[in-house]
Amino acid sequence: MATFKDFRNQIKPNWCPGCGDFSIQAAIQRAAANSGLEPEQLAVISGIGCSGRISGYIHAYGFHGIHGRSLPIAQGVKLANRDLTVIATGGDGDGFAIGLGHTIHAIRRNINITYIVMDNQIYGLTKGQTSPRSAEGFVTKSTPQGSVETTLSPLELALSAGATFVAQSFSSDIKELTALVEEAIKHEGFSFINVFSPCVTFNKVNTYEWFKDNIIPLSSNPDYDPSDRIAAMTTLMETSGMVTGLIYQDKTKKSYEDSVPGFRKEALVRQEMSLSREHFDNLVAEFK
Ligand code: SF4
Repeated sequence: MATFKDFRNQIKPNWCPGCGDFSIQAAIQRAAANSGLEPEQLAVISGIGCSGRISGYIHAYGFHGIHGRSLPIAQGVKLANRDLTVIATGGDGDGFAIGLGHTIHAIRRNINITYIVMDNQIYGLTKGQTSPRSAEGFVTKSTPQGSVETTLSPLELALSAGATFVAQSFSSDIKELTALVEEAIKHEGFSFINVFSPCVTFNKVNTYEWFKDNIIPLSSNPDYDPSDRIAAMTTLMETSGMVTGLIYQDKTKKSYEDSVPGFRKEALVRQEMSLSREHFDNLVAEFK
C-alpha cells in the first residue's frame, strides 16, 4: 500500500521559501495515501500561476493546463476515466477571475472531482497584482491607491450555485487540511476546498499571523451542522467568510455521472469503442 512518500517525485518545488503552497502539496500527498490510493489512481490537474506548478510536484498523473482552465480539463479526465480520483487545483486569480465561469458551472454540474483553490488574495506569479480575493483598499502595483472593487466571496458563491461539498482551511493547519481533502475525495460529487495559502513574497497584509488572528474554526462550535445550507450561508455572511472546517455537505444529491441516463459504471476508457462494419453501414444508411 502506498504511503505519502510514494506521491513524491524528484522535482524540487521552486515556490518561495515559506509559501503556503508547500503544505497544500503535502496535504494532497498525505490524503491520497490515507485514502488507499496508488499514484496511478490519482490525477492532479492545475491551471496557471504559482499554484499551477503543483501538478508537476506530485507523483501521479498530472496536467498543467492553461489559465483558469483546470476544471474543464479535470472534468474531461473524470468523464473519460471515472475510476481515477481527480483533483483540480488553482489559485484565486486562476479560479475566481478568468476561470470563474468554469468554477460555477463545475459546481452545479456536480461531477465527482475535488477542486482545491490556493487562495493567497493576490497574483503571485506575475509579481503582486490585485486579485478578486483582495480586500477593498488593498494596495498593489495594479491598484496603487487601493482596490475599490468588492472582494469576491467564493464560498457564498459556491453555496448559491448548488455546491454539495464546501470547505475551507489554512495551509499551516496541515492536519485539518489533510482530513478535509480525504473527506473531499470520499464525497460523491464536486467538492470545493478554499485554502488560505499566504504569499510571503508579495502579500504583506494577509500573512500567516493575520490569518491566525482572523480565522474562526468551526470546530469551536460543537452545535454546527454542516448539512444545514441556510446555516452555512448565514455563518459565511456573519464571519465575512473567515471560517475554517467543513462548512456544508449534501450527501443526498447524486453526482453527474450517476445522474446522466446511460452513463455507464464502467469507465469510458475501458469500454469497447470500435464500430463494426454492420453498425457503420447502418449509420450511413440513415443518411441516404
Ligand atoms: Fe508562493 Fe507568492 Fe512565492 Fe508565488 S510569489 S511562490 S505565491 S510566495
